[in-house]
Amino acid sequence: MTGRVLVLGGTGEGRRLAAALVAADVDVVSSLAGRVADPVLPAGEVRIGGFGGAEGLAAWLAATPVAAIVDATHPFAAAMTASAAGAARLTGTPLLRLQRPGWTAGPGDDWRWVDSVAEAADAVSGFGSVLLTTGRQGLAAFAGLPGRCVVRSVDPPAPPLPERTTVVLARGPFTVEEELALMRRHAVDVVVTKDSGGSMTAAKLFAAQQLGLPVVLVRRPPLPPGLEVVATVEEAVAWVRAQAG
Ligand code: NAP
Repeated sequence: MTGRVLVLGGTGEGRRLAAALVAADVDVVSSLAGRVADPVLPAGEVRIGGFGGAEGLAAWLAATPVAAIVDATHPFAAAMTASAAGAARLTGTPLLRLQRPGWTAGPGDDWRWVDSVAEAADAVSGFGSVLLTTGRQGLAAFAGLPGRCVVRSVDPPAPPLPERTTVVLARGPFTVEEELALMRRHAVDVVVTKDSGGSMTAAKLFAAQQLGLPVVLVRRPPLPPGLEVVATVEEAVAWVRAQAG
C-alpha cells in the first residue's frame, strides 16, 4: 500500500504500530537502540543500534530510503527524537511523532512535579525509603541519597548508585497488587517516576495513591518545534496510509 516505513521504537506503541503495519501489508523496519540485553522484538524487520546523530540517520536514509518515519520512541528519548527531526529535514522524509499523553493527577493523588532527575533527587533526599522507577539511565543523580533506595530496572544498573540500594530486576507491566506488595515489602515512603504516560506503567501510581504515598514526577522534555504529533497507534496507521495517498 505504501513504501517502506521506518518505526523508531523501543516502546509498546512502537511494537503495536509495527504489528498493525505488518498486518496492513506495509514494509516496516523497526529500529531499537540496543539498550536492553534481551528486547521484546517487534513484528517485521528489525535493526538495532544508534545511527550516529541526525547526520548518521540522514546517511542511513540515503542508503536505505523510506517513504516515511514514525518516531514512536519513549517520551524521554529526547536525543533520538531530535535526531529524527533533523534527519527528516535533511532528507525531506515525512516524519510523524507518536507519543502517548502524559499522566494527570486525580483526587487523592499527592504528586510533586519536577523538571529533571536532579531535581527529583533533591525532592526525595529527606525520605527514608525511596522507590526509583526512572530506569537505569540517570540513576547517578540519586547516588548521594542517604536513605534506602529500591531501584527497579530490566537489566542490572551500573554504578554509581545510592549507598543503601536494593536492586529489583523485573520487566513490567506490573499489576497494582504487585506494586502494592513491592512498596509494602520495602516500606517505601516516596515513589519517583518519569511522566511516561499510558497504562502500561501506571499501576505504581494507583498503588502509591492507595498507600497515601507522595509521587515525584519528572516532567517530559519538550518536543522539537513544528513536529506533527499523534497520540495513538490508530492515528499513526492512518497517517501512514495518507502518505501513500
Ligand atoms: P535517547 O537518549 O534519545 O537516545 C540516545 C541515543 O541512543 C540516540 O542519540 C541514538 O543514538 C540511540 N537511540 C535511541 N533510540 C533509538 C532507536 N529507537 N533506534 C536507534 N537508535 C536509538 O534515548 P534513550 O532514552 O536512551 O532510550 C533508548 C531507547 O529506549 C529508545 O528506543 C526508547 O524508546 C527506549 N525507552 C526509553 C525510556 C526512557 O525512559 N528514556 C523508557 C523506555 C524505553 P545515535 O545518536 O547514535 O543515533
